[in-house]
Amino acid sequence: MELSENTFDVIVVGAGTGGAIAARFAAENGLEVCLIDRKERNKIGNKICGDAVGKEVFDILNIDHPSGKELSCTIKGVKLYSPDRTKCITMIDPRQTGYVVNRVEFGQRLLNDAINAGVKQFLDETMALDLIYDNDIVNGVTVKLKDGTKIDLKSKILIDASGLYSPLKKKIKFDIIEKDFSKDDAIICYREIIDFPAKDQEIQDLEYISIILDQEKAPGGYIWYFPRNKYSFNIGLGVFMDYKGKVKELYKENVFKEYVKTSNIEIHSSGGGVCPVRRPIWTCVANGIIFVGDSALQVNPLHGGGIDPSMRAGFFAANTAAGAIQSGDYSIDKLWDYNVKIMTNFGAEFAALDLLRRVLQSLNNSDLNFGLGKELLTASEILQIAETGGITLSLWNMAFKAFKGISRPKLLLDLNYLRIRMSEIYALYENFPRNYNQFEEWKKKVQVVYDKIHKMIIEVKNNK
Ligand SMILES: Cc1cc2nc3c(=O)[nH]c(=O)nc-3n(C[C@H](O)[C@H](O)[C@H](O)COP(=O)(O)OP(=O)(O)OC[C@H]3O[C@@H](n4cnc5c(N)ncnc54)[C@H](O)[C@@H]3O)c2cc1C
Repeated sequence: MELSENTFDVIVVGAGTGGAIAARFAAENGLEVCLIDRKERNKIGNKICGDAVGKEVFDILNIDHPSGKELSCTIKGVKLYSPDRTKCITMIDPRQTGYVVNRVEFGQRLLNDAINAGVKQFLDETMALDLIYDNDIVNGVTVKLKDGTKIDLKSKILIDASGLYSPLKKKIKFDIIEKDFSKDDAIICYREIIDFPAKDQEIQDLEYISIILDQEKAPGGYIWYFPRNKYSFNIGLGVFMDYKGKVKELYKENVFKEYVKTSNIEIHSSGGGVCPVRRPIWTCVANGIIFVGDSALQVNPLHGGGIDPSMRAGFFAANTAAGAIQSGDYSIDKLWDYNVKIMTNFGAEFAALDLLRRVLQSLNNSDLNFGLGKELLTASEILQIAETGGITLSLWNMAFKAFKGISRPKLLLDLNYLRIRMSEIYALYENFPRNYNQFEEWKKKVQVVYDKIHKMIIEVKNNK
């Protein structure tokens, strides 16, 4: 599409899963939308990823589920393995069912859906460079077009869905927005999609995605084994950011060697990427701007899944933008309801899982083998955590577990302490301030819980 005008209701920067959904629903709300991406149109959707997404989000957004060329396979559940591989917890419930998608085809479909919904202007190979402001409100973006010219595009609301390294977030002039993230809150990954054309190796557990916790082979993260079909899988690992520069080596040694048993292979995609593993940024809105998906660190801290939350966030952002534009008020106060939707829809769960992730990263293989082997956490409790961000153990259950865990009372106490803090943080996020003016007070209360867990982790490490 040639650029026909330069003023829009909404400009969406980034046409990944979050941006494409935001653009689609903004257009469906009757808004004049401009969608831009730095990639060439036919490369949109191409991303180094595990490619797994749950079914639920398609029902919630009432959009087509992946099918045809978009779909590699359908998943019935998740298998979680202990480091010594002797314990496997199988989780099957409606929230664990889903798909492994072909990322480019899936991304192209979401893009086409947005364009068909009435996006007025789609500009590919267009790079967002910086924000522009009207007084203290973002009202557009400076971009470099395909032909190299730099222009200003004006918006009432700007939606930033440009991913983890959003250049706009880095440059924003409002202090309330976190411009960067700590390296402790992200993992670095490497993965390959491998086909077995000679059919001399079959993929195991075709209906499950498998996650292997192993602090020696994948320190701070996990190994994944996701089927695509009977003769193709997506395997990889995520590790602490300190392993930057060594992650491919770790993958070759600890994943490829274990799971690839033949030399008759075709590697049809390989590469690395960084995944945030913490709760969303403190506030995902400021005057005139809404942050969506990786740009707002809206990723499940436990497994790094960010497709589903980015799509939900895109949907919420479009609705909030429509409301603000109708009222003519683009201030942070008016956009605040987007924060409330994010924090109460999945932010509470992610904040609780962020605490769990931090503690899990501090355990060693012996703790993990013990905890999973003795079922200190069962499949249904893990599912409960995934659903509500906390667990409510009955007294009998607690006593029973205490008996089982008698040889490691400290670990049990730590897990119980964690359980209480997870419930606290979940409740705080459920009660995310409905108004911006209560935000600072709320933030202090959240920080207290984080400080407690931080202290506990230091003690756990010192006792090892
Ligand atoms: C190795 C790895 C494995 C993962 N596995 C899974 C998984 O199995 N399941 C899952 O749910 N999630 C997974 N994730 C996370 C998931 O990929 C992301 O959370 C999700 O893609 C976020 O979508 P997004 O739309 O926010 O950002 P992105 O998909 O990153 O899209 C951002 C878009 O913005 C564009 N852009 C960037 N900068 C600019 C600019 N300056 N101007 C214009 N356009 C710009 C980019 O070209 C891109 O199209 C994984 C991540 C990694 C790194």
